[in-house]
Amino acid sequence: MTLPEITQLELGTFRFPDPELADRTGVIMGYAIRHRGGVFLFDTGFGYGNVELDETYRPTKKRIADALAEAGIRIDDVTAVANCHLHADHSGQNSAFPDVPIYVQATEWDIAHTTEHTILEWIDFPSSRYVQLRGDHEPFDGLRIVATPGHTPGHQSLAVETDHGLTVLAGQAVYTVEEWKGVPDELEGRSNAPDREAYDRSTERLHALEPARVHFGHDRRSWTQARA
Ligand SMILES: [Zn+2]
Ligand SMILES: [Zn+2]
Repeated sequence: MTLPEITQLELGTFRFPDPELADRTGVIMGYAIRHRGGVFLFDTGFGYGNVELDETYRPTKKRIADALAEAGIRIDDVTAVANCHLHADHSGQNSAFPDVPIYVQATEWDIAHTTEHTILEWIDFPSSRYVQLRGDHEPFDGLRIVATPGHTPGHQSLAVETDHGLTVLAGQAVYTVEEWKGVPDELEGRSNAPDREAYDRSTERLHALEPARVHFGHDRRSWTQARA
């Protein structure tokens, strides 16, 4: 196996509360990156036990340990975690990782703890080890956390150097393949981004990295650069 190896994990599905999207089903994708320093997990999916959230989103969920096991990864092999942001669909099972460093932007941490942003009991748990960042950070060689605010103030993406060029894990900085290609469909995330200017700047930033491949937090499909 050549490292790093990026494995897509389907963590669940949900119903959009917006009536105009009633016929669409949302998906929640996480990613496990096997690299020389261990396994880096990007996003943990919805958590369990919140009745209100379950009624609103009617989610189907997968235990993160099961999703990893299907990819041949033991949960104990995960040596670091990051959430693209702290909304409940991306960070709901963080508590499966006690004593594991979880990288989060300080701005995201602050907003989660001062506003109605997420389900806090899924974020704050005994033996949690959050590492607060202010901007970009490279926790491992060739694996970089890139600050991409817009959807939330502390949104972040990943840029991973691979044998086939740079792979970007956009998280929710860009919602779908169509939005990435500049032909946004009804699931685009820009129109309802709280900070649209930041959203645009982050999208431009990710494009400027000239990735060979891009994965998304809410799209099963990935985008691949056409070979010249
Ligand atoms: Zn969100
Ligand atoms: Zn989301």
